[in-house]
Amino acid sequence: MKKTTERNVFSKGDGDKLKIQDGIKDIFTVLSELTDNYLYISDMKTGVFLYSPQLVEIFQLPSNILKNPLPVWKEIVHPEDWEEFEKANTGIGKNGNNYHSIYFRAKAFDGEYVLMKCRGKVVFDDGGEPFIFTGIMTELGFANKRGSLSSIQTRKRLNKILDEKCLNSSLSEQFAVIEIDIDNMEQLNAMYSRKTGDFIIQEVYNILTDVLKDKGKVYKLEANCFCVVIDTVTENDIASLFSEIQNEIDSVMSQYLSTESIHVSAGCTFYTDDVSNRDTLLRSCDVALRYAKNNSKNHLTFYDNSMWEREKRKYLMNTLLEKSSKRKFPDFYLQYQPLILADSQKIHGVEALLRWNCPELGAVSPVEFIPALEQNGLIVPLGLAVFRQAIKDGKKYLAYSPDFYMSVNVSVKQITQSDFAEEISRIIEEEQFPPENIVLELTESCIVENIDEFNSTLQKLKLLGLKIAIDDFGTGYSSLGLLKNLHVDYLKLDKLFIRDIMHSLESKMFIKTVIEFAHFIGYKVLQEGVETEEEFNEIKPLGIDYIQGYLFGRPQNAEQITEKLCRAM
Ligand code: C2E
Ligand code: CA
Ligand code: CA
Repeated sequence: MKKTTERNVFSKGDGDKLKIQDGIKDIFTVLSELTDNYLYISDMKTGVFLYSPQLVEIFQLPSNILKNPLPVWKEIVHPEDWEEFEKANTGIGKNGNNYHSIYFRAKAFDGEYVLMKCRGKVVFDDGGEPFIFTGIMTELGFANKRGSLSSIQTRKRLNKILDEKCLNSSLSEQFAVIEIDIDNMEQLNAMYSRKTGDFIIQEVYNILTDVLKDKGKVYKLEANCFCVVIDTVTENDIASLFSEIQNEIDSVMSQYLSTESIHVSAGCTFYTDDVSNRDTLLRSCDVALRYAKNNSKNHLTFYDNSMWEREKRKYLMNTLLEKSSKRKFPDFYLQYQPLILADSQKIHGVEALLRWNCPELGAVSPVEFIPALEQNGLIVPLGLAVFRQAIKDGKKYLAYSPDFYMSVNVSVKQITQSDFAEEISRIIEEEQFPPENIVLELTESCIVENIDEFNSTLQKLKLLGLKIAIDDFGTGYSSLGLLKNLHVDYLKLDKLFIRDIMHSLESKMFIKTVIEFAHFIGYKVLQEGVETEEEFNEIKPLGIDYIQGYLFGRPQNAEQITEKLCRAM
């Protein structure tokens, strides 16, 4: 018993002051100076802890020696991590619990939480009683076992290696370049902290080097993007390497971040005839990576030339759209496709369809240019110009048929503009067109994804007297229940349906039910894309109200519609 008292880590000095035994103090001081980590040592019998000066500094501890310091740590440890921290600390040395390893967030001197790893071990005295508890805390946001981010191989070195490889490689010795990028990094930085973000990047780098071992080197391209160069591999090798990386990231990261999974996307290219210098290798990787990111993330994509061709066309199209917009879109015009009453097969109205006769590219399909206009925002001014032109032309048609409807497509980008309804109202007034003869077509997904914004704008438009159609119904994911609450006027069934009912009785029954339900809640139903008599004969008995499709007229110029109406009189 006497022996263990002599081996106390701390002994009483003058008065009540705690004094550390000299030998232990010296060793502790030397070790503290030699490491980036934070050290602590405690006397298990008295509950007194000694902390290294760096730890005192970062967490502003009241002293480097604290007796029973849990209340001090309670102020520092993140409230969500406190329970685990307290449990781990109070259980030390009890029930054979001699080792301690926890992660927790702690508030540093600057008020920001940092992610800490704490490892500790109990030393027993000769009588088998817990004697010393000592360990290391590591601040994961800054330092780590394999050096900081700055020591990672840089782009300069990568450039040099790629140049050398391209110079010395024959095509028979294919090598691959892979770019790997952490998904949603901005979101992770915002949710945790930049320091934790740095830690995640560092950890992903460590995992990449571990998984690759001597297969290839890892280079850092940008904040959270790495590049790997690997010799003589196949697509299959790379695919299995990528899933190994994903699995490893999953298992390592789940220790630290309980709520969030860390995902990476990758783009890969091989050294080939077409991709045979540093710039094209890196550009091809970029293209493949962008493709992976745009197509669901957490994904590996192998480069192929068509991706680059598509990107180039998109860039060019964008430039040409911008150029056209500066001149108020002179190369755009409208065609109109008849909407037919199913019973009488008479013309009920037309749908305005935008056309682009691009001087440089020729006729471009709206399936291609509408998404580009939506992405760059130009659909907003152009959409209003379309609306104005459509009702200008519509006025001529009204002279032939007072019940004539003009249907105009509207993009989600337009409907979510706060002044959309006001702009529409202004144009209707300026052009003196009856609003009840206008139908705005909105796609199903546009409505579902923006239901709140949509509902308030919808109300304003309905107050103006306009009618609303849900376009491409059946391609999105709205339920019949949702339809009931929307208060629209028309459902336009996508052309997929008409193809389906020709082959399947089930589809036919389904459409019949949709039409009946729509009628029940007061909507009219139009079938798009009817191309043949057979299709028309299948859909008509199901109670369809209107038909649109090549059978009754392709999209045509304004004058052709006037002629058609004139003939019908
Ligand atoms: P949408 O609104 O579903 O327009 C109907 C599309 O089906 C048109 O394609 C039309 O030409 C085509 N179509 C009509 N009848 C048939 C048929 O019997 N068979 C087949 N296979 N197709 C038929 P288009 O003109 O290529 O337009 C494509 C899409 O571009 C439109 O689909 C619409 O979403 C969008 N779009 C066109 N003009 C505008 C516009 O002014 N504003 C907006 N936001 N989108 C527009
Ligand atoms: Ca439409
Ligand atoms: Ca449609």
